[in-house]
This record gives sequence, C-alpha cells and structure tokens, in this order.
Amino acid sequence: MNLNTEVVITGGGPAGMMCGLLLARAGIDVWVLEKHKDFLRDFRGDTVHPSTLRLMDELGLLDKFLARPHTEVRVMTAEFGRESFRVADFERLRGRAKFTALMPQWDFLDFLAEEARRYPSFHIAMEAEVTELMAKGNRIVGVRVKTPEGAGDLLAKLVIGADGRHSTVRDKAKLKVVDIGAPFDVLWLRLPFAAGDPKEPVARFVGGGFFVMLYRGDYWQCAMVIAKGGYDTIKAEGLSGFQARLRTAAGFARDRAETVTSFDQVHLLTVKVDRLEKWARRGLLCIGDAAHAMSPVGGVGINLAIQDAVAAANILAATLKKRTPSVHELARVQKRREWPTRVVQRFQVIAQNQVLARTIRSQVTPKPPWPLYVLDRWGWLRQWPARFLGIGMRPEHVRTPAVLLEPRLPELKTGDSAPT
Ligand SMILES: Cc1cc2nc3c(=O)[nH]c(=O)nc-3n(C[C@H](O)[C@H](O)[C@H](O)COP(=O)(O)OP(=O)(O)OC[C@H]3O[C@@H](n4cnc5c(N)ncnc54)[C@H](O)[C@@H]3O)c2cc1C
Repeated sequence: MNLNTEVVITGGGPAGMMCGLLLARAGIDVWVLEKHKDFLRDFRGDTVHPSTLRLMDELGLLDKFLARPHTEVRVMTAEFGRESFRVADFERLRGRAKFTALMPQWDFLDFLAEEARRYPSFHIAMEAEVTELMAKGNRIVGVRVKTPEGAGDLLAKLVIGADGRHSTVRDKAKLKVVDIGAPFDVLWLRLPFAAGDPKEPVARFVGGGFFVMLYRGDYWQCAMVIAKGGYDTIKAEGLSGFQARLRTAAGFARDRAETVTSFDQVHLLTVKVDRLEKWARRGLLCIGDAAHAMSPVGGVGINLAIQDAVAAANILAATLKKRTPSVHELARVQKRREWPTRVVQRFQVIAQNQVLARTIRSQVTPKPPWPLYVLDRWGWLRQWPARFLGIGMRPEHVRTPAVLLEPRLPELKTGDSAPT
C-alpha cells in the first residue's frame, strides 16, 4: 500500500470514524487506517449520547441509525447497596434525542463506516497498523503502515491521530503527555441474561466495589472496578474467591457467578487519564483519547471523542481543500476542545478519588452523597446532570458542507425485473 492522499486518520474508533465521515462528506480524500480486522471488540463503551444523536439528526441519519437494534436509557440511576437514586433525566433535554442509545460499539462503528463509504473520497483499510510517522524536516508528511500484504507508506497533507489512549502516533510525534492517573482498573466480563431481568443499565456501589452492567441482548456486559494493579491479588485468591466477589456485586444476576469458570473469561483494562500539552505539530493533529485519554467514569469519553472529530472537521475542512493547515490552524482545534476536556477530566478525577478509591480502600458500601437525595427528590434538577453527561460542554454542530451524492437506485426486490 503506497498512496498519496489528503488526510490519513490512524484509528477507526469513534473519533476516527466520525472525522473520516465528515471530511469525506465535505469532498476531502481521506484514508482511515484501523489495525484490527473488524470493529468487534468487547471492551468498548456502548453509549451513544444525545449529543451524538443530535449530530446524526443534523446529518439526516438519525432515523436510519435508530432503526438498528438498540436500547434507550432515559433516566440514569445509581445504586448504593439497596438504595437507588435517579441521577440524570435525559427526557428533560431539548430536541428529538431525549435518551442515550445503548448499542454495541461495533454496530455504531459499522454504521458510520457504511455511511462514510457512500462518499467516493472515503477509504478505509482494516488490518492496517500505523507503525511510524514520516517526516520532512520538522513536518509530518505521512505514515508507515503494516498490513497482511506487507508494509507501505501513505503520504498526506495532514495526519490525524485518533488511535486511542495507547496512541502510537502521539508517541512517535514525541508530543508531551500530562499524566493525571487513575487509582483503579476495570475487569470486563459477561454474565448471561435471564428472563425477567431488567434491561436498564446498572451502576451499583456494593461492598467495597463498583459494578456496571450493560444489557446486550442475551448477556450482560459487566465492568468490575478494582484497585489499580489489584488483578494479581484477585487471581491469587482463585476462581472461587472471584465468584464470591461477583455474587456480592452482581445483584439480581448473582446466581450466575458460577458461569465464570476461568480467568480467560475476564479481561483487564488498565485505566489511564491524561492529556497532551499540545495536540498538534506541523502536519499532525491528535483527537479523541489520543489527545486526552478518558476514564470510564461518567461514560462520556465517546461523546468527547466525537465532539473533537466534529470540531476538527468544522475548523479544517475548508483549508484542507486548498492546502496543508498551518500549526496555528491545527491549534484552533485544541483551543476549542481543551476546555470541555479539562472540565470532564476534573469531574472524573474528583469522582474517582473521592468516591471510587475510597470505596475500594474501605471495602464497605459508601454512604450515598447528599446531592443524590436532592436529585432523586426534585426531577427538574436532573436536567443538569443529563446535560453534562449527555450533551457536554460546548456542544458541536455539523458545519461542514456536503458534496452531492448520486441518488441511490431503489433496491430491487425478488421478482422485480431489472430496469432497462
Ligand atoms: C473500561 C473502559 C470503559 C469505558 N466505557 C465507556 C462508556 O461506556 N462510554 C463512553 O463514552 N466512554 C467509555 N470509555 C472511554 C472511551 O472508550 C474512550 O474515551 C473512547 O473510546 C475514545 O474514542 P477514540 O476514537 O478516541 O479512541 P478508541 O475508541 O480507543 O479508538 C482507537 C482506535 O484506534 C485503533 N488503533 C490503535 N492503534 C493503532 C495503530 N497504530 N494503527 C491503526 N489503528 C490503531 C484501535 O484499534 C481503535 O479502534 C471507557 C473507557 C474504558 C477504559
């Protein structure tokens, strides 16, 4: 694979796919390079926030998107032992999307890829891992990529690093990282769904743990929060010890703890929180987790990644049609998105240090903080957490123009004769 294009995006996660779609829609030749062969991975958040649904609406894609199987979370609740609190009420948001859609992220990314492929200037290469940046003097001019067919070079006016929290691009570009840290890791596992289970997501503080359950049709995708580096201790306790932890944490699904019969069914995700001092250098821009790795707290990392993508396309599309954006122009993306990122990371750090870390240390169910009683009692107050989690600060709107597409021919049904 040796090519010359306008934009190369490394990483086909939420940030990369949305940015690729918007740039191609604006008529820019764009290649998205994704190192995996498909989007099918368990350890991805499943939340498509109201802000993203609004963007879909602006793109004219909302109805088509919602025709895919999903569940809708209209009220977010938190459980502390046996007490349950309504925390955020998405029904109180303005606009059509009064809920967070829960859809396996591989379906969401497939949808974005399918829509992006309608634009002739969109290209995606799966199993294409970016291994090096190519530079001319001080300017990044492309990437080196490894594929099953061999290595190749892609030259571009701009490289966008959207390769997540373990970003190769930002390492190779030697962009300085401010490490904020996180005192916990997450164990990711599945428990079977049983008839009669609720289908709403669960976020539960119980004993010394925090346990999240996301409904995925015939199973629950579960996240167990543990102390940073604590997985070795858990494994040393053996499987029966782990099953006992699961019985405490899994609430109505406690009877299914024995379905975890091996630690091979449990995946450790190390949590990082950090951000780049500078998101760009000549010829290169980082967005999403590559620019600021987000903690899972609040489940808003996907939202921010998508918002970065929209801002990048809004700010850069017109210039990219003519020339390589200057560092100053690239820095405008950071200027627009850094403040919302800092606010969310601040909130995550407070939540993880004041609530999660204390819970894990004390090994007892924490007392619910008093604001939860207030939120549960007065419904209109729940619009503010809903806004913060579902829309975020400084929401973006699609401002890029769209190239005209050839209208699609109506699909032929079996028995129809082909048009002559
Ligand atoms: C345990 C956990 C749970 C989370 N749950 C939620 C949640 O429920 N809701 C939420 O909003 N956020 C959640 N987050 C945060 C969220 O996952 C991230 O903020 C979000 O995925 C960032 O999107 P992104 O596109 O920037 O990066 P990613 O989603 O990480 O995508 C990066 C992509 O780049 C690819 N890639 C990496 N390196 C290369 C390379 N060298 N070459 C080519 N491709 C490459 C990867 O395969 C991946 O597909 C969670 C985070 C963690 C750790």
